[in-house]
Formats: sequence, structure tokens, C-alpha cells
Amino acid sequence: MLDRLKTLYELQNIDDQLDELEELRGDLPLSVEELQSKIKSIKDDISAKEILKKESLNKREENEMESEKLKENQKKFKAQLYQVRNNKEYDALTKEIDHSEELLKKIDAENDLLADESKKLSEEIEEVGPQLDELKDELKLKEADLKEIIKANEKEELKLRAKRTEIESQTKKPDYDAYMRIRKAKKGKAVVTIRRSACSGCHNIVPPQRQLEIRRNAKLFFCEYCGRILVSSEVADIIEV
Ligand SMILES: [Zn+2]
Repeated sequence: MLDRLKTLYELQNIDDQLDELEELRGDLPLSVEELQSKIKSIKDDISAKEILKKESLNKREENEMESEKLKENQKKFKAQLYQVRNNKEYDALTKEIDHSEELLKKIDAENDLLADESKKLSEEIEEVGPQLDELKDELKLKEADLKEIIKANEKEELKLRAKRTEIESQTKKPDYDAYMRIRKAKKGKAVVTIRRSACSGCHNIVPPQRQLEIRRNAKLFFCEYCGRILVSSEVADIIEV
């Protein structure tokens, strides 16, 4: 049983050190993440606008072709006007000419609208350029800072992680699960010692009878106030030496 308690305390000890390394990074990891997501969202926005621009261009080209065809037809109709033999034919031709005229106007208007939209999209894309560059520069700096901090503690962290893996494998599964659950709930400390008769996690007094039991190192005890795992100072001393 002592080993079980020792293992848990040691696990906490290593996690404390890893937490300290994590703290050195401050808000850099979060800043980097936020910048990355901002940059991605701007880039996605630009891509979406580029696609709209391309679609607009395709549509305008299609319209131009349609326009050319209509103009050709109009030319033919106008030439035929000189060869009509009666009013009925004349009316039919002028009707065709008017109709194609209307279509041409409609296409022109649509192309003007599409060109305006395209221009607006280009301006919007251009507008975010400086902001995007600024964010990229900021990200580069923060990433470099973070990398430096990580590199400075790389060896220590690797050593701690290796040790943690080893201890984790020695920890009983239910103990480990309980440890992780409490650690998550308490944001760090899951295993604590008794200091001046109190739980060093929540500073509530541990009843003397319970203190005696804990000192026997024969069972897993949880603080009745904060739910953390309580170990005797003997366990702590073995590990810390
Ligand atoms: Zn407590």
C-alpha cells in the first residue's frame, strides 16, 4: 500500500514540475493559437472572395459570347429588312430586332453589375492585406518566443515526461483515474499532505483519528472537504529526498 501512495505522490510531484514549465510559457500558447485562427479566418474569407471573383468573370465571359451572338443575329435581321415583301414579315423582323436589343441591354446591365461586384471584392481583398501581414508578423514573433522557452526547458521536460510515463505505468488504473479526475477538478493538485493537522490542499483540519489512520499508510484517504488524496508526511519525505 505504501508503494501505491508513494506512486501517487510522485506522480503529483512530477506533474507539479511539468505545470511549472507550462506556466513559464504564460499566455504565449493561447496567443499563438488565437493568431493562427484569426489568420486562417482572414485567408478563408479571401479564398471565398477569390472564388466569387472567378465565378463573376466566367459569367461575364459567357455574357460577352452571348452578346456577340445576338449582335450577329441583329445584323442579319437588319439586312433582311431590305428584302421584306410584306408588312407581316417586316413586323416579325422588327419584333426580333427589338427583342434582341432588349436582351443586349439586359446583358450589359448584368455585366456592369458583375464588374462592380468584382471591383468591390478586389478592394476588400486588398484592404485586409496589411492586417494579414501584421498578424503574420506578430505570429512569427510569438512563435519564436514560445519556441525559445520550450527549447530552454526541452531536456528537463523530456526527462520529466519519460519519468511520468514510467510512474503512470506503475500506478493502478483506478488510482490513476481518480488522480486525473481530482487533478482536473482542482486544476492541479490532487495529492496533498497533512500540514499542521490540516489538509494542505484546502487547509481544513483533518480529525486526529483520521490523521493516525493516514499515518499508517495502509489505505487511500480522501480529504472530506476538498476530495483530494491525503498522504502522510512520511510518504512525502520518501519522495522528496
Ligand atoms: Zn482538503
